[in-house]
Formats: sequence, C-alpha cells, structure tokens
Amino acid sequence: MNAPLRKTDFAAAQASPGPLPVAIARGDGIGPEIMDATLRVLDAGGAALDVREIRLGEALYRAGHSAGIDDDAWSAIDATGLLLKAPITTPLGGGVKSLNVTLRKTLGLYANVRPAVAYAPFVPTRHPGMDVVIVRENEEDLYAGIEHRQTADVYQCLKLVSRSGTERIVRHAFEHARAQGRRKVTCVTKSNIMKLTDGLFDRVFREIGADYPEIEQEQMIVDIAAAKLAADPTRFDTIVTTNLYGDILSDIAAEVAGSVGLAPSANIGTRAAMFEAIHGSAPDIAGQDVANPSGLLLAAVMMLRHGGQHEAAARIHNAWLKAVEDGVATPDMARGNPPASPVGTRGFADAVVARLGETPRALAPVDPGGHPAAAPRPDAARIDAPARPARTLAGIDVFVNAPDAAPEALAARLAAVWPGPFDLQMITNRGVKVWPEGNGRTLLTDHWRCRFVADPEVATSRTAAIELVLRLSRAGIDVIKTEQLYLVGGERGYSLGQGQ
Ligand code: NAD
Repeated sequence: MNAPLRKTDFAAAQASPGPLPVAIARGDGIGPEIMDATLRVLDAGGAALDVREIRLGEALYRAGHSAGIDDDAWSAIDATGLLLKAPITTPLGGGVKSLNVTLRKTLGLYANVRPAVAYAPFVPTRHPGMDVVIVRENEEDLYAGIEHRQTADVYQCLKLVSRSGTERIVRHAFEHARAQGRRKVTCVTKSNIMKLTDGLFDRVFREIGADYPEIEQEQMIVDIAAAKLAADPTRFDTIVTTNLYGDILSDIAAEVAGSVGLAPSANIGTRAAMFEAIHGSAPDIAGQDVANPSGLLLAAVMMLRHGGQHEAAARIHNAWLKAVEDGVATPDMARGNPPASPVGTRGFADAVVARLGETPRALAPVDPGGHPAAAPRPDAARIDAPARPARTLAGIDVFVNAPDAAPEALAARLAAVWPGPFDLQMITNRGVKVWPEGNGRTLLTDHWRCRFVADPEVATSRTAAIELVLRLSRAGIDVIKTEQLYLVGGERGYSLGQGQ
C-alpha cells in the first residue's frame, strides 16, 4: 500500500494537520494480521497518514539480506522519519544481528518508552490501578553486541555505558514524567556489583534529578525492583533503566498489567522514531486470527501524538478503551478464562471501529491534550558532561589463555618475564582473585586476568604496556587481550578483583 490512507467522513470532520508520512512494515508471524487490523482502525479513526509500505524481516533474510532490511526500506525510513513496525522473527543461528537492535542503533533511537497500564476489572489483573512507564536506554549496555569467544571455555560480552548516553536517557525520563505530571522516577541498576558502569548511571540520575525537585526520586537494585514490580507494581510510576534491565522489566510490567499483547512502545530519537508492540511475532498463533492487535494499535496512537495528530489519537484511544470496558477481548486478555464473547484479531478491530466517537464510562477517557510526551533531546547530550579529565596509565590487565594451569605456577611463569615498569599484583579467574593467597575452592577455567600495576613514582607510557605484552608473548604466554588501567582525574577507572 503506497497510496495515502483514505480519510473517513467522520474523520474528515476533525481538523487535522497534513498527512503524516510514515513507513510501515507488516513484519512476520502475527505481524500482517495485527498490522491490517491497526491500519483499518487508523483509517476509520481519521488518522491522516501518507503510508509507504516497506519490507523487513524474514522475506529479506530469505532474499539474502543478512540484516533483514534493504536500501529501499532505509530510504523510506529516512524520507518519513517515522516507522510503524509489526514484530519480526529473529532467525536462529549465528551471524545474524537482531534487526530491532540494528534499527534502534542505526536510527539513533535512544529512548524506549513503554507504558504498562492495568484496565481492571475489564482485563484481569491482580493490580488494578497499575500505571507504570518504563524509560529504557536503547543503544548501549550489553546490547552493544560486542562479544568474543576468548578461550576454549570462556566467552565475553562487553557492557558499554557512556556518560553522554546516560545523561540523555535520564533527562528524557524526567522530562517525560514532568510532561505527564507524574509523581516519581525510580532509577534501576545493579550498581552494587557493577560499580563503574551502573554506578555511573546512578550518579548521573542523582545529578540530573537535582533539576526536577518537584518529582520524587529513588534508586533501586534491579533484582528487588523486578520482584516488587511483579508483586506490587502500583508503588512505581516512572522507571528509568539501562537496556537489558529495561527489556526484562517492561515484559514483566506488561504481563502483570494484563497481557503482553496490550503493551505499546515508542523508540524515540532526534532524527527518527519507531513505534511497535513490545511482543514478538508469536509464530505459535500466527495465521489463526486470535492475536491481540492492541499493542500495535496503542503504539500507533503514540505515533499519532508524536506526529501532532492529537484529535485522531484521542478518538482511537477512547474507542479502544470503550471496546475493552464493553468486554471485547481476544483470548490472551482473559488469561485462560474465556470472555463471554471472545473475538479474533479482525473482530477486535471491528469492535473498536464501531465505537469511534464514543468515550469510556468506567475507564478514564483520554482528551486530545492527554498523554503528552517528552521532546527528543538534541544529539549526544554532551551539554552536561564535565571537561575531559586527565588520564594516567596506572597498569595493565593482561588476559591469558592457560588451560590446566595452577595459579602459583602461572605466577611463576609470569615472574620469569621482565615486566619493565610494572609489577604483577594479582591474578584472577573469572574475576575472583586466585593469586596471591587464593581460595583453593575457586573453580578454575582456562581464562586468567593478570594485573600488572605501574610504580606510581615512574612515568609509564602505553608503549611500555605494549612492550610487556610482547615480552610475555615471546615467552610463550598466550595473551588473549589487554585492558589498560587508568586513573581518570585522579580516580581509579577500573574495578578491583573480587576478593582483593
Ligand atoms: P512473543 O512475544 O512472540 O510470544 C510470547 C508469547 O506471547 C507467545 O505465547 C505468544 O503467542 C504470546 N503473544 C505475543 N503477542 C501476542 C499477541 N499480540 N496476542 C496474543 N498473544 C501474544 O515472544 P517469542 O515467542 O519469544 O518470540 C517470537 C519471535 O519474535 C522471535 O523470533 C523473537 O526474536 C521475535 N521478537 C520480535 C520482537 C520485535 O520485532 N519487536 C520483539 C520480541 C521478540
């Protein structure tokens, strides 16, 4: 469908700005069914869209595009700056990147905003009154996708957290909370273990939070936050968190609110925005006309607000709320307790269309000014970043592959190599100190981190660190990789070994 969507008479009566250019992708599995249902409601509800259909996902993978996207799709997304996307099946097997991650990172969609709302008593939930927004950092963390197999036994995945990226997402969360008149923002991390990366996220949260004194602020460790979100979600309002925790927490929130099939998500960047349901392509129910189109439809409502079509957004949102309170439900909304008159995907869309122009009575109606969202932040918000502090080389971690080695014997082999201006300070195995004075109970793998520290009285260059690696390699030590240890602005820029 490349022609603009037709406006209905009903919709034409409403003043709306010019048609909103949008690329749409029907996706895989249940994607085409829920996209058809969504487009039908948007059309009937008066959304003025100039739609360009693109192909993403399985069809492209099969045609040999290993990224699941081709140049035509990129051009359409560039031209429209908006993408409404049905879910896509991620092919199994190595070598294939997640298309979702590619889209978010290539388009700079740094903020993933996921509301999870309970619609009790119409959608069964133990937590009526739940209304949580999860603002998830969308580009960094373990989703940078930098992974390596380093030895026969050990694989690694790099967790990258930047100050500029963190500032941008934390400010987006506060701005979103302020725009919606929300009362609290909770920062969720695992900074008790990852003191540098997640510790930075916590620190930035406190710094930026000072600009929002009217909003209550709290910090929570992710494990207890997940437990509380499942048990008592009404204690949360807005959550800001890193990429992986946000991915997990938002699925918990959606399921606890009622169904994973209900939850929408907005991926916001400065150049583009992408709107989608949070669920996947559900191949187990594809083609059966039972999938719930609500997640994608509510994502489309978020897109209309983002594009300034507030009247159409409110009309469609209210019709959807009215259908829900009238008992219209797909099977997933009934939690194995079939509703009196279960409907399929098409029937659900028909029921929403039939209620356009109506407002809910029991559920809170939405007005066109409702649900305002934060504006995207300008590129990499270096605005608040401090001046670049001086870095001093304090040592080097040399990672070594040594199958069947014993800590004492490995230390002796290393000590036999002249270390230049460095001293061997400790050896760890999977992060736990095993030399000197290791605990004999530690499970040993073939992957050792050997920490050499520089004499603080001696000026040490990066060349000296490289020379150390050369000397170790020439002595037959199998060096896998190195990490320089820096003092940054006089502060230790590396973690200590566990047990050090
Ligand atoms: P899923 O979300 O597709 O399905 C999980 C369960 O929820 C299934 O039982 C499914 O039937 C049910 N479900 C999901 N959406 C529903 C809906 N709208 N109505 C009713 N029930 C619904 O998760 P999965 O099975 O882990 O993933 C399937 C595929 O989707 C995988 O290839 C995965 O990589 C991909 N995926 C894509 C996206 C995306 O494109 N944004 C997101 C998540 C997963």
